[in-house]
Amino acid sequence: MKTGLGNILSKMGYKLEDVSAIIIGHAHLDHARGLEFFRGMNVLIYIHEEELKYMFYAVATKEDFGAYLPHYIDPSFNWKVIREEEIELFDRITLYHTPGHTPGMMGMLVELKDRNFLFTTDLAIYRDNFEKEIHLVSD
Ligand SMILES: [Zn+2]
Repeated sequence: MKTGLGNILSKMGYKLEDVSAIIIGHAHLDHARGLEFFRGMNVLIYIHEEELKYMFYAVATKEDFGAYLPHYIDPSFNWKVIREEEIELFDRITLYHTPGHTPGMMGMLVELKDRNFLFTTDLAIYRDNFEKEIHLVSD
C-alpha cells in the first residue's frame, strides 16, 4: 500500500517493515497519524505512561474529542510504556517527560557526533513558550 508515510520511507530507501521502533512525543492526531500502518507488526511504540492513560481516557469519554484517534485503543499495537522522567532509551537518545500541552508529552534529545538535536513536539511552538515557560495548552 502506498501511503504518505510509505512514500516518505520509500524515498529514503526504506519500507514500513524496516521500522523497528517508534517514539511518540505525544499522541495528538497531527503527531501520531500513521500509527495505523503498524497494527499487528510488533513494532515497539514508546509512549509515556501518562500519555497512554490520557489518550485512552480521552477516546473512551470523548473528552478532548478529535485530538486523539479512536483506533489507538487497538490491542494489536505493541505499546512500550515509559514511566521515567528522564531515560536514555537508546545510545545517545534521551527522552524527557515534559507535561503541559498533554499530560504525557515527551521531548527527545538526540546526541550526534558533532551536534545535538532537541525535539520538543508541541512543547515550545512559540518563542514565549520557551522564553517565558508558557505552556501551549490543547483546547
Ligand atoms: Zn499537540
